[in-house]
Amino acid sequence: MTQTKIILTGTIKNLKVHTTKKGEKMALADFESENNDIIEVVFFPHAWKEYKVKIKEGKIVTLCGEFGDKVQNSKTGENGLAISFVVPRVKKTEEALITNWDLIKNPQKYEKSLNLKIHRGTNEIGGTCVEIWTDNARIVVDMGMPLVNPDKTPFDEKETEKHSRDKLIQDNILPNIPSLYEDGSNTALIISHSHKDHYGFMKYVNSSCPVYLGFGTQLLIELTNTFGDNKWTINNAKHIINGKKFNIGDIEITPYLMDHAAFDSYAFLIEAHGKSILYSGDFRLHGRTSKEFQWFCNDVKKTVDYLLLEGTTIGRQTELFPTEEELEEQFVKTFNKTRGINLIYVSAHNIDRIKSIYFACRRCKNKILLIDFYTANVLKTLNKKVDSTIPFPSQLNYKDIRVYYPHFLTNRMLEHVKKPETVRPFRPHKLGRDEIDKMASQLVMIVRPTVQYDLERYLKKYENGCFIYSMWHGYKDKPGKTKDFLDFIASKGMPIKDIHTSGHADLFGLKRMVEAVKPKHIVPIHTEKAKSYKELFSEENVREVDDGQTIQV
Ligand SMILES: [Zn+2]
Repeated sequence: MTQTKIILTGTIKNLKVHTTKKGEKMALADFESENNDIIEVVFFPHAWKEYKVKIKEGKIVTLCGEFGDKVQNSKTGENGLAISFVVPRVKKTEEALITNWDLIKNPQKYEKSLNLKIHRGTNEIGGTCVEIWTDNARIVVDMGMPLVNPDKTPFDEKETEKHSRDKLIQDNILPNIPSLYEDGSNTALIISHSHKDHYGFMKYVNSSCPVYLGFGTQLLIELTNTFGDNKWTINNAKHIINGKKFNIGDIEITPYLMDHAAFDSYAFLIEAHGKSILYSGDFRLHGRTSKEFQWFCNDVKKTVDYLLLEGTTIGRQTELFPTEEELEEQFVKTFNKTRGINLIYVSAHNIDRIKSIYFACRRCKNKILLIDFYTANVLKTLNKKVDSTIPFPSQLNYKDIRVYYPHFLTNRMLEHVKKPETVRPFRPHKLGRDEIDKMASQLVMIVRPTVQYDLERYLKKYENGCFIYSMWHGYKDKPGKTKDFLDFIASKGMPIKDIHTSGHADLFGLKRMVEAVKPKHIVPIHTEKAKSYKELFSEENVREVDDGQTIQV
């Protein structure tokens, strides 16, 4: 128990004055309440000197001091009261008589604690949501949308939009955290990165709720909303900075930049009342941001009470994953070998991968990276506002990045949502249909299923080309847009090659995280293999929990 300042009224009994080794006087006494509860009180020399004239056997007084285990009774082991102040007149306030004596009888009821509840993610990849709170503050880390339903069928965002917020809470789709939906509550939302399985339900949160996130993360979420169907915006954004602590009430949070497939991803160290939790977020150690991990290891508190450790890849793959630099080599080899066009299916938000592709283009003679104007918006926005090392279409430094205009997306942005500012700035870098076909052998073109219509219409030269799949393989095998797109590519006689590395840590990376923070407990999160943690990490440290279970840290 920590020391608690209290004021207490009662009767002085069994007063004994002692002389310390240093020759100073001090006193011990029993202190009895109206209801005959007794605790030991200690008047240390400085307090005794000041108050001895007021303290007499049998006298009712009001004392102010520190209650706790610093002054434990040597015989009974019970907590005592170290007096720092004696209130001059007897003050039988209800608070002093009842509340504080109650605290002495039931200290655990008043103990300041840090609590934790994983609403979703203890045995699931996606939909992550963690609530952490003390007596006076509450934070929610991530507000993710699930990837699958409880029966493992794909989660349908459109389906949820048919229902009210209350209904979604009732059906256990949205987390039941009332203060998140109320106006002006003491709850803050903290978002680790811009993947929807970590932020997708943010739109349901009350607009007054402060949202702590990286500036890059905010920009990527806003770009997704601008180009998609979402009309919501982040009203109350607060930007977090790598290593810079911030407080929500008595909870202190330190964000740490992590390497992940999403740009600007963070882990969080969360501390209060001498307790600590490290939420790993999604991370890996084989990308271009992995050098940040050494800094994290040096800066982070060395022993945390709880590590919430993501385990996406546990059970999926056992070997070490290639680094982004190794992928760059594979791209160089492939581009050099391919005599026709290179088509690459990659996420526009995977900045590390786009850098690997672009650097590979530069290393091959005469290659041009051709991106659609959505990807161009992402790269330019991040370059201008967050990280000037990100390449984007520009006459000045990146003449070898050109832009194409997919039919449906261009129409949508100009005619339907009327946002010409997303389309026009890249016109000087445009490569037209005829040029694309003519220059095919020079091009490394970033594509996705929605541009199939454009490829069908203006790309004639598929022969000698290569299609590179640079995403998680799981999307390939399921029926849907990706599979249809790959079938279309295969029908053109193009070879399909995988060049990819995971956005998540391999076992080596997970173990390095455990070594860095030496957790007393490891809690599985963002995994389908919670049961395997005990085989991979020290068994006694692993604590498997269920969604919705409260842990007092
Ligand atoms: Zn992620």
